[in-house]
Amino acid sequence: MWLEEKGTRFALADNHRRIAVDIRNKYVRLGYSDTRLDSFLINKTYNSIAYEQWQYNVIATLEGSTNPDSVCIVGAHYDNILKSGAGDPFLLTYGANDNASGVAAAFELARVMKKNHYSPKNTIRFIAFSSEEIGLLGSSYQAGKSRTKGEKIKIMLNNDMIAYEPGSDKSGWIVNIMDYDNSTDLMNKVQLLAEKYTVLKYVNDNSLNKKSDSYPYSANGFKALFFISASNDPNYHTLNDISAYCNFEYCREIVNISCAILVDSN
Ligand SMILES: [Zn+2]
Repeated sequence: MWLEEKGTRFALADNHRRIAVDIRNKYVRLGYSDTRLDSFLINKTYNSIAYEQWQYNVIATLEGSTNPDSVCIVGAHYDNILKSGAGDPFLLTYGANDNASGVAAAFELARVMKKNHYSPKNTIRFIAFSSEEIGLLGSSYQAGKSRTKGEKIKIMLNNDMIAYEPGSDKSGWIVNIMDYDNSTDLMNKVQLLAEKYTVLKYVNDNSLNKKSDSYPYSANGFKALFFISASNDPNYHTLNDISAYCNFEYCREIVNISCAILVDSN
């Protein structure tokens, strides 16, 4: 709800740095003083107009106690877009399910870990990615940088559109957990954790697994998973993607999965 009320979150709109700074400030308020913007230059043509501009990922860090160089990432994109005919994304988007829900998941994990003075063995990085909707640009930059620097990324968890579930009967709640060629073993482990710690059932439908920020991590050789609601969101990329249509109880169950993996990995 906090993000949906910030006006547009279209990456090419003039306010895009302001949004990134607001996300950083929220992490700082949660106790993550080491939260920074990581900037990268994009060249993108949209509606026949060429844009060259800086974009900003937001990275909050919980330092590992014994293996600080080994990193677990929980990421989500914060930008949104509208499909053609659904409005002008330069003026307004809400993007509650897509993808304020995933950004909120990372905030909540960060909040709970800080509140409980949780000290992971490996470093946990909470990343809000920019420019996903215009070609996975933020995650491609970040994953490429990690590979170039030879970073040890143990796991990368991507939550994108995790709050749409129209049913109130929990026995019908399903999460789609997508994996990649190199992360099936991680997915199998996660499925067991989902059974143990959530009410959710799961499916593994990989048809969209190249369509979000986990894909560049996998393509750069890191083990990544992509969590998404199994129900198709009819409000996708429209101005009806608002929190009133989000199911927060359902969303919480999906966040529980990320929490369980992170604790299990640390
Ligand atoms: Zn998305």
